[in-house]
Amino acid sequence: MNAAVIAPQLAPSPAVAAFLKRPPRLLIGGEWVDSRSQRRIPVIDPATGGQIAALVDADQNDVERAVKAARKAFESGPWPDMLPSQRQDLLLKLADLIDQNAAELAELESIDNGKTRFMAGLIDVPGTRDHFRYMAGWATKIEGSTIDTSIGGPPGTKFHAYVRREPVGVCAQIVPWNFPLAMAAWKLSPALATGCTCILKPAEQTSLTALRLGELILEAGFPPGVVNILTGLGETSGAALVSHADVDKVAFTGSTSVGKLINKSATDTLKRVSLELGGKSPVIVLPDADVATVVGGAAQAIFFNSGQVCTAGSRLYVHRKLFDQVVEGVVTAANSMKLGPGLDPATQMGPLVSSEQQQRVMQYIESGRSQGASVLTGGETPSHPGYFVKPTVLANVRPEMTVVREEIFGPVLVAQRFDDINEIAAVANDTPYGLSASIWSNDLRAVHRLIPKLRAGTVWVNCHNMVDPNMPFGGFKQSGHGREHGRAVIDMYTELKSVCMSI
Ligand code: NDP
Repeated sequence: MNAAVIAPQLAPSPAVAAFLKRPPRLLIGGEWVDSRSQRRIPVIDPATGGQIAALVDADQNDVERAVKAARKAFESGPWPDMLPSQRQDLLLKLADLIDQNAAELAELESIDNGKTRFMAGLIDVPGTRDHFRYMAGWATKIEGSTIDTSIGGPPGTKFHAYVRREPVGVCAQIVPWNFPLAMAAWKLSPALATGCTCILKPAEQTSLTALRLGELILEAGFPPGVVNILTGLGETSGAALVSHADVDKVAFTGSTSVGKLINKSATDTLKRVSLELGGKSPVIVLPDADVATVVGGAAQAIFFNSGQVCTAGSRLYVHRKLFDQVVEGVVTAANSMKLGPGLDPATQMGPLVSSEQQQRVMQYIESGRSQGASVLTGGETPSHPGYFVKPTVLANVRPEMTVVREEIFGPVLVAQRFDDINEIAAVANDTPYGLSASIWSNDLRAVHRLIPKLRAGTVWVNCHNMVDPNMPFGGFKQSGHGREHGRAVIDMYTELKSVCMSI
């Protein structure tokens, strides 16, 4: 049996239908405006391939206007004079508004990205709300320190020295299409908690929830220019933000290749840069693991969000003793998944975000086939509209194969067996990426010995894809630099200023 059947896309609710009819616009300086160029980007429903709306394609002039508005809001007006507790209150108000509009946001995310409304309502929207709430708390907890110096001088010389932590300034925040609303929250919330101002550029495929969030940001009462939202193309408006001399920091989540471009481009102006990039995360199953737990966990690790997750557990390494049972279980789980449009309550896996992504994933599967991998299940697209790819498990793969080395960003798992637990860390680390890993075992000794050997920003044990606003998130190696969440992200959005006063 193979992953089943599609239902027709369902009609949107009146609130979402009304939102989709609003004219394309940008949020600049607290106002909804059009671009003078009037260029447009179509918004495509990935479950049908049909156009559902249009976005403004921001140009250089729009970038200039947005940067100017963000700079003005950073330096004058109410924002820099606000008390930390007032920034906190605004963030909490925004979180409440997200809660009040949760159903609409989940539906929008579903039709824009393809993910199920159920998952958007369970994970993306509450996660977004919780992120704003968590970061609201940080607004009132930012602190500096006093310093004892040894600066000499004539008798009686004394200095009072201290360190202030100040907002880094105007931040360009470029986000991808896999978790559009949540990624916007990961970027905006720490910037706003610390007193920065922002220009958010959502992905061209999935800008709808960022625009709805912009409406809620205005409703919450953030001063004009504190948050600006530019829809547009990465290579034009995104690149212009990165190279702009009046932007102080770029925060980016997306592909490693674009992350490298951004890092290079930002060097000319020596901007602060944080990069959360791709991954090829290993799921390591030790010989003592509980098979039923592993099967559910490994299937979830790769198929969640149709595999479009930077931390997707895309390389499964199972000890020889359990390999056949675990792989058989994951194949059965893949076969039982119902594919369909995100608004259908029966759907378990939605389409990929775009035709381009569907083709990219299918090319990877073909490359696996041509290099000798066995397709245990999936490996094809269903014969109906929409950008679906059946959940796929590849076996008989070798470490040098493209499907093992490169990030596929789709529902494609490569399964490999191992014999020696002492060699698994080297195998798992044999990748340019280092975002995350999971270990499945109840052998505490083995687990604790393995954790320090894994070159990954997050290691999960008997779980995968668990994130929390208080838990630093980011990558080793080519998975990026900097950490989001927790205290670490507050450091990324602040500069230290040493003050030394002769007294
Ligand atoms: P990109 O890295 O191109 O897109 C991420 C964001 O960067 C988007 O907002 C995009 O704009 C923007 N962008 C693109 N080029 C530039 C540029 N030169 N300067 C500034 N901003 C830019 O991802 P893709 O959409 O092309 O996806 C390709 C692959 O990237 C996927 O297959 C996957 O492997 C990986 N990826 C990883 C993600 C992660 O979470 N780590 C998320 C998404 C993708 P726009 O799209 O609007 O043109």
